[in-house]
Amino acid sequence: MASVVNERPDTQTTDDRYVFRFGGGCTDGEAGNKNLLGGKGANLAEMASIGLPVPPGFTISTAMCARYYEEGEHFPDSLRAEVAAGIAHIEGLTGHRFGDPADPLLVSVRSGARVSMPGMMDTVLNLGLNDETVEGLARAADDERFAWDSYRRFIQMYADVVLELDHGAFEEALEVAKEDRGLTLDTELSPADLKELVAEYQRLVRDQWGKPFPQDVHDQLWGAVGAVFGSWQSDRARVYRRLHDIPADWGTAVNVQAMVFGNMGDTSATGVAFTRDPAKGAHAYYGEFLINAQGEDVVAGIRTPQYLTRAAREEAGAKASSMEEAMPQVYGELASVFDRLETHYRDMQDIEFTVEKTKLWMLQTRSGKRTAKAALKIAVDMANEGLISREEAIGRIDPASLDQLLHPTLDPKAPRDVLTKGLPASPGAACGVVVFNADTAEKRAAAGEAVILVRTETSPEDIHGMHAARGILTARGGMTSHAAVVARGMGRPCVSGAGSLSIDMKERVARCGAGASWREVKEGDLLTIDGATGEVMIGEVPTVLPELSGDFRTLMAWADASRRLKVRANAETPADCRVARDFGAEGVGLCRTEHMFFDAARITAVRQMILANDEAGRRAALDKLLPEQRADFVGILEVMAGLPVTIRLLDPPLHEFLPHEEAEFAEVAKATGLDVEALRRRAAELHEFNPMLGHRGCRLGVTYPEIYEMQARAIFEAAIDVAERGEAPVPEVMIPLVATRREVELMKALIDRTAQAVFAERGRGVDYLVGTMIELPRAALKAGEIAETAEFFSFGTNDLTQTTLGVSRDDAARFLGAYVEQGIYSKDPFVSLDIDGVGELVELAAERGRTARPGIKLGICGEHGGDPASIAFCERIGLDYVSASPYRVPIARLAAAQAAMRKPAM
Ligand code: PEP
Ligand code: MG
Repeated sequence: MASVVNERPDTQTTDDRYVFRFGGGCTDGEAGNKNLLGGKGANLAEMASIGLPVPPGFTISTAMCARYYEEGEHFPDSLRAEVAAGIAHIEGLTGHRFGDPADPLLVSVRSGARVSMPGMMDTVLNLGLNDETVEGLARAADDERFAWDSYRRFIQMYADVVLELDHGAFEEALEVAKEDRGLTLDTELSPADLKELVAEYQRLVRDQWGKPFPQDVHDQLWGAVGAVFGSWQSDRARVYRRLHDIPADWGTAVNVQAMVFGNMGDTSATGVAFTRDPAKGAHAYYGEFLINAQGEDVVAGIRTPQYLTRAAREEAGAKASSMEEAMPQVYGELASVFDRLETHYRDMQDIEFTVEKTKLWMLQTRSGKRTAKAALKIAVDMANEGLISREEAIGRIDPASLDQLLHPTLDPKAPRDVLTKGLPASPGAACGVVVFNADTAEKRAAAGEAVILVRTETSPEDIHGMHAARGILTARGGMTSHAAVVARGMGRPCVSGAGSLSIDMKERVARCGAGASWREVKEGDLLTIDGATGEVMIGEVPTVLPELSGDFRTLMAWADASRRLKVRANAETPADCRVARDFGAEGVGLCRTEHMFFDAARITAVRQMILANDEAGRRAALDKLLPEQRADFVGILEVMAGLPVTIRLLDPPLHEFLPHEEAEFAEVAKATGLDVEALRRRAAELHEFNPMLGHRGCRLGVTYPEIYEMQARAIFEAAIDVAERGEAPVPEVMIPLVATRREVELMKALIDRTAQAVFAERGRGVDYLVGTMIELPRAALKAGEIAETAEFFSFGTNDLTQTTLGVSRDDAARFLGAYVEQGIYSKDPFVSLDIDGVGELVELAAERGRTARPGIKLGICGEHGGDPASIAFCERIGLDYVSASPYRVPIARLAAAQAAMRKPAM
């Protein structure tokens, strides 16, 4: 996210300047300094400095944003002079004067934080128009319609984003103006119609704001600048910052720039483009443009944009000519600008441009958001093209984004009830219940439901709902609409512009089609979307595992070559192990045996074992379980042949397996010959007040050694079975929840005794290790003593977090959100390791373990083993491996490579 930020120590320059000019082939310096000029300003200045056609302008730096807030939302007087000099700079280069009734300079005002930030005030265009200058513009441009259309757009935008008036009223006035005259397109309104509309807009401003629309162009400018800084503290911006870890003190810059007009007739146009395909990554220009239009028309989805290239138009089967065909010369210039930008920035760029009467102007460039699939292809292609190194290619992929590629897609063979089709805006399949607004999406998702957010179009207010949703569906908007861009950035599947849908917010229903094919979808109905094809289906469609592309394999191979940490998987069935191995797992770091006990075929024997009154009763039940456990381990060891497999002995409190229902008690009674009442009494005896700190982990093995003995026997018998058939397995027997050296000594002796017994019976042995989990603070502190017996440590950071923080892992969700929000923990410590606290214990235990037993094998198997920040910590303290759930194995491989590359040389 923040990877493109040009690192500077702070936002100050050596002098006290706050305004930095660009244009006319030069800049005031600081080009490319995103911390000071914000992303947009830094890139405008940089484009100007390499000689690209950028309308002249200036940037008020992010440092002013901080000062503005420090000084109680006021501007220092010195800024007025600097801004006046900035305006004079634009006037000098354009030959137009700001506020000149005869030939006015018009400017745009835009926000620009260090990273692109939805939620901020976006753009005001055509600033500088008033009742007088509009006449001057009409004369100077010799186009009355253009001038009055620009004025009505300016009032509408200013009222919306600066004055924050109800924009619905302005849209309605526009609709009424068209309806009254029997027109359908905005462009059909005559100059006289537009003048009336402007008068109506001014009336609306006066009614809603209580003051007339500002006629002084300087007041307009300062109003817009203040609105940009004000929007930094808007609720939407705060939500976005929280979701993306953006510090509040970064502030935003303001960019003021000469207007250029894409709406000056058929030799003018405006468009947005990517230097490569942001959805699939192909090395082909990608974008949309509109002839005779202003920028917001492309993203607003009101008119259907045309393709940039002929190839894209042909592929889509569209009729309206592409820019390559309609404006070949300007297209040629644009293509060469794309190439220069890519060579300069060494990354795929997302661009906005305008053509004013055949003259090309660049309005913006930035690193383009892309899907994970595109990110992989672009990184691999750029490394192969020699534009970036392989290390840079590895560093360009956000490990968490791989999730998008690893998760299932729709089963192509499954029947589907297609409701409609929109644009394939962001790939991946998602199914969930339909909701029609962002707040409901957030609420229902927080309650554990999968939701699909369905909107006519999305806006920055919807960000929190988009984040909470599994997928996003919009009725309007193209591939570059807000929904499409944001969804791709978040990795949410998205179908945009499903034009046949009409959404009735009052009734909370989406309607589609007409006549016999009329359908409706109500809030709460299940819907599936396929962001790769644009299909929208009623109900749930089954999914299949994705096929991983060649680029994925290439990049992962590069990552593997750069990584030191091994990556294992937490897996407990042969099927999970197969997935993990296919994703590149180099062993099993945690096989939790208790899940096997829940199997319907064995639960009665398990209950019989738990409820037995004595050892003989337990042994009788364990004898039934032994062959089943052995078969489990055979399956796993076979799939993981040749690789280490850490099998953890039984861990959870026994009461978890107890019967609850009448019928279950009856079944156990039948199997044991005991009466139901006696069983019930025994079950009551096993009740614990605090089972997480109760009779669990190795405490089970200490009190009922026959349980661990059975499990150890099953492991060694299975290992020998597999070894006899082929490649030798490498079992690592792991003791859970130890606190003391003596526990480990007792359990290891039991395991070794069992191994020797099995080896004697079978006439052969296998290599194995006995180690322990470190998941209690005492174990971490006494790791030196424990390592004298334990041959390996695996950090169980789920329990270690729970016991170090004294926070129940099962109850934390109720209050941890508030903790993270108030910065008590920077992230959920059960998701991303609390490096400061729990991490210190891990580091200390690793050191003490290594001192006692040099070369002791060290790994981590808590959920943190799949979290990139925690993996970086594991790399720093020199663990041998991390273990993650099968689908996170590739994420861990990449994160481990990035961590190794970032680690400073010792
Ligand atoms: C742990 O505590 O981190 C661990 C891996 O064990 P479990 O989650 O099964 O308690
Ligand atoms: Mg644990």
